[in-house]
Amino acid sequence: MIGAMPPAEHATTPHAYAEVNLDAIAHNVGIHAAHTRADVLAVVKADGFGHGALQVAGIALASGATWLGVTTCAEALALRAGGITAPILSWLHSPAEDFGPAISADIDLSAASPAHLRAVAEGAARAGRRANVHLKVDTGLHRNGAVREEWPELIGQARRAELDGHVRVRGIWSHLISGIDPDGQQIRAQVKLFEEAVELARDAGLRPELRHLANSVATLAAPETHYELVRPGIALYGVEPHPQHHFGLRGAMTLRARVIVTKRVPAGSGVSYEHDYITEHDGNLALVPLGYADGVPFSSVADAEVWIAGRRYPVAGRVAMDQFVVDLGDDPATVGAEVIVFGPGDQGEPTVAEWARWAHTIPHEIVTRIGPRVARRYVGASVEGFEEVPGV
Ligand SMILES: *Cc1c(COP(=O)(O)O)cnc(C)c1O
Repeated sequence: MIGAMPPAEHATTPHAYAEVNLDAIAHNVGIHAAHTRADVLAVVKADGFGHGALQVAGIALASGATWLGVTTCAEALALRAGGITAPILSWLHSPAEDFGPAISADIDLSAASPAHLRAVAEGAARAGRRANVHLKVDTGLHRNGAVREEWPELIGQARRAELDGHVRVRGIWSHLISGIDPDGQQIRAQVKLFEEAVELARDAGLRPELRHLANSVATLAAPETHYELVRPGIALYGVEPHPQHHFGLRGAMTLRARVIVTKRVPAGSGVSYEHDYITEHDGNLALVPLGYADGVPFSSVADAEVWIAGRRYPVAGRVAMDQFVVDLGDDPATVGAEVIVFGPGDQGEPTVAEWARWAHTIPHEIVTRIGPRVARRYVGASVEGFEEVPGV
C-alpha cells in the first residue's frame, strides 16, 4: 500500500517529518529505464534507503522497475507481507540461516559460496519446492561473493543441485568496485572476469538468464555492465551518483521540522554543549527538535546550514541527540517557523549531498540514518488516498 502513515509502534516526534515524494522516485526510475535496455531491479534495502521499502517498491514497480532487491530474507518477506508479488532478490545471508520461509515465499536467493548453496538446497528440500538462485561471484570488490578459486566448486555444486531438482540457477552476478572509473580500466577488468565466470557456468550446463553487475552510476554511465538486469539504489532516491555528470534526478526526501523555542542572546554567547559556537552579534536563536538520534549528523557541525523562511542559516554549536540550534542573526525568530534541513534543492535549501559533504560521509549514510522517530509522509500525484496532515 502506498501512502500509509508510519507504523503506530514508533513514537514519532510531532514537530518534524521526512516527506517522501513518490513522483520524484517515479521520475528517477524513468531516467534509469531510459538509460538501459536491461530490466531494472530497484534496490529497496535498509527500508528503501530510509524512504520506506514498501512505498518505494510500489512506486518503483508502477513506474518501470520489474524486480526488487534487498539484503536480508526478513526484508524480502516484509515486502511479500505488504502485498508485493514482483520478483525479489535477497543477497546477504549466512549459510546458517533457514532459507525455507524465503523459498516458500518465492524469494530469489543469492549464493555466495558452496556452503550458502548447500543451505539453500536444504531449505528448498524442506520447503518442497525449487529455489531460484543467483550465483554471486567476486570480481575484485573482495566483499561478498565467491573468489575465482571457488568458482568451479560453486558452479559444479549448483549444477548438481539443479539436477537434484532443488535449485534453478536463474542468475549470475557481481558488484562493482566503483561505477566511476575515468579510464574504464577497472570496470573492464571486472567485466572480463565476470564473463569468465558466466562462461564457466555455461560450460557446466547452467543457463543463467539474468547476468547483473551495475549499480546506479553504472546504470547511468557504464552500459557495458548492463547485461539483462541493472540494480540501481541511491540514484532512485534522487542523489546524483556521478561527480561530473548530472542526469536530471530529483531528490525524493525533504526533512522538515518546525521551530519549537526561540530566544534572543547577546553577542559573545556560547551555544550548545561545550560552547563550541560563540555568537558574533546580539541575535536570535531557534531550536529545532531533531538531533543525531534522528540522523542529523553530529560531525556536520562546522559547516551545516538549514533553510528557514527563504534563506540559509548556520547550525549553531553541537548537534545534540534530539535537538540543534540555528543562529538567525538579527532575523526574527518565530515558534512554528518551518525548517527544511534538506530537500531536493529547488528553492536553494541544502541537499542530501551537501549534508554528506558537511558530515564527511556519503549521501547514502545521510538518508539511511533518518531514524524511526521521524515519521515518513508520502506526497505525489501517484499517491492513492494521500491526505495532507495539517499542523505539524
Ligand atoms: C546497495 C547495492 C546496490 C545499489 O548501489 P547504489 O550505488 O546505491 O546504486 C546494488 N547492488 C548491491 C549488491 C548493493 O548492495
